[in-house]
Amino acid sequence: MRRWNGWGDEGQEYPLPETAAVYLASLIAPGQPIPDAAIAKVLATIPESRVASHALMSVEPVDRLQHARGQSLPDWIALRSGRVGTYPDGVAFPATSDDVRNLMKYAQNNDSRLIPYGGGTSVTGHITSLSGDRPVITVDLSRLNRLISIDEVSRTATFEAGISGPQLETQLKKYGFTLGHFPQSFEYSTLGGWIATRSCGQQSYHYGRIEGILLGACLQSPIGPLELPVFPASAAGPDLREMLLGSEGRLGIITTATVRVRLIPQAERFKAIFFHDWSSGVAAVRKIAQERLPVSMVRLSDALETETTLTLAGRDSLVRWADRGLRLLKYGRERCLLIFGVTGDETSVGRVGRQVASLARKEGGLSAGTMIGEQWRKNRFRTPYLRNTLWQHGYAVDTLETAVPWTAVSETSAAIKDAIRRALEEQGERALIMAHLSHVYETGASIYVTIIFRYSPDPEKTLYQWRSLKDAASRAIVASGGTISHQHGVGLDHLPYLSAEKGEIGSLLLESTCKSLDPLGMMNPGKLLPV
Ligand SMILES: Cc1cc2nc3c(=O)[nH]c(=O)nc-3n(C[C@H](O)[C@H](O)[C@H](O)COP(=O)(O)OP(=O)(O)OC[C@H]3O[C@@H](n4cnc5c(N)ncnc54)[C@H](O)[C@@H]3O)c2cc1C
Repeated sequence: MRRWNGWGDEGQEYPLPETAAVYLASLIAPGQPIPDAAIAKVLATIPESRVASHALMSVEPVDRLQHARGQSLPDWIALRSGRVGTYPDGVAFPATSDDVRNLMKYAQNNDSRLIPYGGGTSVTGHITSLSGDRPVITVDLSRLNRLISIDEVSRTATFEAGISGPQLETQLKKYGFTLGHFPQSFEYSTLGGWIATRSCGQQSYHYGRIEGILLGACLQSPIGPLELPVFPASAAGPDLREMLLGSEGRLGIITTATVRVRLIPQAERFKAIFFHDWSSGVAAVRKIAQERLPVSMVRLSDALETETTLTLAGRDSLVRWADRGLRLLKYGRERCLLIFGVTGDETSVGRVGRQVASLARKEGGLSAGTMIGEQWRKNRFRTPYLRNTLWQHGYAVDTLETAVPWTAVSETSAAIKDAIRRALEEQGERALIMAHLSHVYETGASIYVTIIFRYSPDPEKTLYQWRSLKDAASRAIVASGGTISHQHGVGLDHLPYLSAEKGEIGSLLLESTCKSLDPLGMMNPGKLLPV
């Protein structure tokens, strides 16, 4: 069963090695765990629903609680403390596109608002219901989870948009295909959610971001269905798929989507390389991107993330042994770890692996074989479970990301970390702030920052600390000319910083598009746009 106030399945744990607990206490401070609110107590505080009954809708408190929040840190604070604040009045479970149309009519007739809900893995407040006079219905799309058709010759497949990552890959595997879209939230996030947030999978370098995968779709908008047909390419004016990508539930509900699929690769390998320092690592991954070496993923950790990754791995004697060896070879405190993946057939995987190693050597890189890379592969969807464990030890975790040109990568990364550090220091708190580059392009890279800090016994104080660090980091991103989000979307949390990126006319364009498809302002208000 899925946790109601944390990440993932209740049966899955990610224990923290003893040495890791000591490490965190030394870098931050000992955590001060406080008990979570009991679910029964939280359920008892949920206000009466304001919606009339509907065959497709539940008004049960437990359904309303389970759909009240996503996975952002403010969501966690709300759920763990039991101070959730707002709830949807009902949760609808449509099973067909007709059901979705039917719900739209119902919402129109009852002056209600609708929040499309895929897997609820948003980390920027996309699915929170806002307070207001109009009732709110969350539309859980998990029953729209079928493969509709597959064209094995053209290598395209059409799915219902509520299908989750594992369901989708299981369907494609029967035909020997894969989508290859693997965000870390893969276990729960959905095709519709990926489109609506412009998601980026861990192997996007090989398989493409979702915008390179989406071929066509059907959107049930408040004024009627919008069909986007599939073409290999088209010059027939602006591409309307771009309107759906990143639409965050504001234009309607995506009910079906056609995607490009690939043959399941014959071989795949993940390897590690150590660099003496950050700048040599950055130079190497830039060259990988600009020389277009066909890797499938790269992840270059800064020195602190490198150390933390090795410590959290928990294999103390092995890590100590490796540490000694690396130091002897002069890969000391500033060393940075690169994990890269190659996907293809046996010959190409071997060849590309050697090309990367040779390029890295020129930047002082030291190949470390497959063990660390294989560990990464094994834990790639398990790592989020560590967030539950850290919370139990008294630590809150948040992540944020941007993308900037190569000329600004190192400065921006330093500026964001510095801004967060200062924001928390002003409140007397120390934090572990580390970063990696996980998506590289010819012209620049994404920067992904992880922050671990002690949460306070007072949830309002933790929320205040989070607001301060988020604002400081977001301002640093804007000042550096970075995008406010490389992959997580806008939601509520990035909204204050969006206009710097879109400009006045761009924002007007977004608003008028929403108004034309949703004249009554029914769809997911307050996300992406202020109204
Ligand atoms: C542990 C963790 C790891 C993550 N890793 C990644 C990562 O590697 N890459 C990445 O890109 N993101 C990542 N995310 C963020 C998140 O998983 C993505 O934003 C994902 O695309 C959201 O999908 P979802 O189905 O859960 O959507 P939800 O969270 O349910 O919804 C997100 C938004 O999409 C809208 N929406 C959902 N379905 C539809 C639909 N069918 N029609 C219209 N609108 C819809 C919602 O209204 C909402 O505005 C991660 C999140 C977590 C918690």
